[in-house]
Amino acid sequence: MRLENKVALITGGSRGIGRGIAEVFAEEGADVAVNYVGQAAKAEETAAYVRSRGRRAITVQGDVSRRADVEAMVERVWKELGPIDILVNNAGIETIVPFLELTDEQWTRLTDINLRGNWLCAQVVCRRLVAEQRKGSIVNIGSIQAAKVLPGRTHYAPTKLGLEALTRNMSAEMTPLGIRVNCVHPGLIETDMTQWVMKDPEILPQVLAQISMGRAGQPREVGHVVAFVASDEASYLTGQSFHVDGGWQGK
Ligand code: NAP
Repeated sequence: MRLENKVALITGGSRGIGRGIAEVFAEEGADVAVNYVGQAAKAEETAAYVRSRGRRAITVQGDVSRRADVEAMVERVWKELGPIDILVNNAGIETIVPFLELTDEQWTRLTDINLRGNWLCAQVVCRRLVAEQRKGSIVNIGSIQAAKVLPGRTHYAPTKLGLEALTRNMSAEMTPLGIRVNCVHPGLIETDMTQWVMKDPEILPQVLAQISMGRAGQPREVGHVVAFVASDEASYLTGQSFHVDGGWQGK
């Protein structure tokens, strides 16, 4: 029970990696606020799983790229579950657009959610933690693409490499105030986001050939690492980024 009696907010907890993190967190003893933007029913499924493990759960709608949504979300979690101990910045989107065709709107929407949204959620939570003199732990979810080039990702990849810098810089300012900040970079994980790769008989073998383990990961395999990084067992760990990718980045 690494996370016994901790309260965690997981952005994008309705599906995929966020859902895997929420499941493991509940099994490790945490109460979980499941954020989502559009898929309320999926968020309810995640919350039901958390409750089935004897923990409290709420679902919270909110777009991580909108300050008013984030402030309302954090306020609700604080009121209904109590002060947040752990924030997992997992919400993200990926689109694939060749560099020469990318529009201002496509750049702005993606970077707003993946990078600014992450910064925004962290700032709102940290301001409150610091005001109440509480300790905390933040885990940012990056991507293998912080280290590897994939086609059509000149907007996506910089957001994920940017999270490493955000993690280091936030850690430098927040750790002295009692808030650790780390980053976990998943590799190819089987979720809605990657269904198109998993189902493509030509592309899938090319990707798997680059991964030492020769397979895609499951959301819970990311969840276990995030649970450790977020927990008090990792009390001397901050400002770091880890690849959870079956040996893709190292190959
Ligand atoms: P996914 O299956 O597409 O799920 C995305 C999640 O993010 C959903 O819960 C979605 O909510 C939420 N979301 C999207 N935009 C949001 C917004 N503006 N505000 C709040 N929530 C929002 O994606 P995934 O594969 O689990 O990916 C999760 C994270 O891991 C992302 O940051 C992604 O970049 C990163 N990642 C994924 C992989 C991979 O192989 N899957 C690899 C590396 C990194 P709704 O359900 O309401 O739509």
